[in-house]
Order: sequence, then structure tokens, then C-alpha cells
Amino acid sequence: MKDIPVFDIHADLLMDLFRRRENGEPCSLAANHLPRLSAGGIRGAVIVDCRMAGESAGHEHLEAFIRTARAEILDTENKGIAKCILSGKDIQKALDEGRIALVSAYEGLKATGGNLSWIKRLYSEAFLRVAVLTHNDDNEYGGGALGSGQGLSQLGMDALELMNKLGILVDMAHASPKTRQDILMGSEKPVMLSHTSSAAIYNTGRNLSNIELRQIADHGGLVGAMTSPAAIAAPGDRQNQSLARYMEHLVNMINVAGTEHVGLGLHFCEYLYSREEYPPIQKLEDASKTGAILDALSKAGFSKNDIYKIAWGNFVRVFSESCP
Ligand SMILES: [Zn+2]
Repeated sequence: MKDIPVFDIHADLLMDLFRRRENGEPCSLAANHLPRLSAGGIRGAVIVDCRMAGESAGHEHLEAFIRTARAEILDTENKGIAKCILSGKDIQKALDEGRIALVSAYEGLKATGGNLSWIKRLYSEAFLRVAVLTHNDDNEYGGGALGSGQGLSQLGMDALELMNKLGILVDMAHASPKTRQDILMGSEKPVMLSHTSSAAIYNTGRNLSNIELRQIADHGGLVGAMTSPAAIAAPGDRQNQSLARYMEHLVNMINVAGTEHVGLGLHFCEYLYSREEYPPIQKLEDASKTGAILDALSKAGFSKNDIYKIAWGNFVRVFSESCP
């Protein structure tokens, strides 16, 4: 399956970059991250910055994001390793040129303080093309996964409209169930939920039910299957924190949502945490092992064309519709 490219639709690479630099460690996309992606056959990635609850997330961080995301992505482009993706058309160009397609993304727009002009700045100055409105907590735009359960606010509706208009793909990861419904109903463009798992296989309370998987597919959207151990099996159940269990989640998503609506939101996190905090899943420890997923899909009987759609084509389609 080596000839099938992979688009990782959720990689916390920019988050890692900020954390390491704030700790005084050197870190760059070119040196620390992209070689591992290449080794795993990953030819495109949505690279995300995110501020967790408790981390400073004001305008000064957005300024830093603009400076750093811009400089880092352009650095990889200047080195001939990657290409900054500004629209759907750029993705094929990157592939043809043998460069990794990098999509700039931000998770949880709390730091904008509800000021929509920041979204425009991030779009034009930091190349932002994928954004998550809320992280786990509620913010001005709407309810987060661990918040009060509220849906999108009027400001959230306005932000959604702006993102549709500018060409920023809306990611519903970390939104409350009500916010997800409001986004699905309110978005004029297809949306994605970049990293999740199947509640039918293991229910954390946040994994998606088959009903919701089907609903996102019915709206032309995309769901990504993630490798986080805590999302695929119970804490401490090392036996099932494995490639085999990941495949059960992924195959359920494909069976329910269809081969056109599932992607790989890998969300590898081994570089963000210690092994004790976050033991990587077995046989799928980091991005360099991604080829094992494609091989397992083949073994499970999926055609090469279906594997291509899941690994690459579906994201390219949804992204291109949102960001032509
Ligand atoms: Zn996330």
C-alpha cells in the first residue's frame, strides 16, 4: 500500500512546537516532525496549534501563532520539504512536487475573545484553513465537549458564516453535541470532525454514536479515526490499546458512514507526553507506523480505491469544497 498517500487530518505539530520552545527546547517542523511523517507515508497533514485550559491563550498567543506558524511553514517550503496549502488545488501540486502538504489549523478560538477580525487575520497572515470553534470548555462561540452543553451562540453562527465565506474548513472536534448539531445544520459547506472514535466499540461519552456518524455523512461531511489510547479502550487496558482495536473503530466508522466519509485523524501524541502519561497504542506507536493501517484495511477486504479515499481522497474532496 506504499503508493497510496495519507493525509493526517489532525496532527498537533504546532502545539508541540510552541510547548517545546516555551520550555527552551529547540524544535522545528523540518527537524522534529516531518521526517517521521514521511517515514509513515504521510504526504499531507492538518497541523494544529491548541491552548489547553490553564495555558495562556490571549491575543499575545495569537500574535505568536501568526509569527511562528507562518515562519515554520514557509521554512519547510523554502527547504523544498513541504508546501503551504492555501486552497484545495494546492494539494495535488504538493503531491506532484513530492512535498508534504501542510494545512495550518487552530483548535479552540477562545483566544480571539469573540473578535471575528482575528479569524480574518489568522486566515490571511497565518494561512489558517481549518479551525475548531470551541475546545473542551465553552467559549463565546458555543459549547465545548466538557462544558455546560450549550450550542452555538449568535456569535458562533456569525463565525461559522465567516469561515464558510473565507474558505476555512470547520472542524467540530471538541464541540458539545448541541454545538455539533448547530454546525451541521448551519454550515453551507461540508464540515469534518477530525479526531474521534466509535461509541459502538467503546463509549467514552465523547466518541460518536452510529446515528451521528450517519448524520455527518448525510451532510457530506468527514469523520477522522484517532489513535488516542484513551479513546479506543479503557484506561489501563493495554491489551486493547492496539492497532487491532483501532481498526475495529475505523471499520465501524466506514461501515456506518460509508467509504466516502471517513478519514484518518491520527492524533498521534507520543511527542507531547511521557510514555507513562500517554502510552502509545501497540503496533501504532507514532506516525512512522501509519502504513500498518493501510495494510490492515487491505487485509480486511477493502479495495485499493476505497483505501485511497479513506487515506487521502475524502479529505481532499471536503477541504476543496470548503476552500476551493
Ligand atoms: Zn483535539
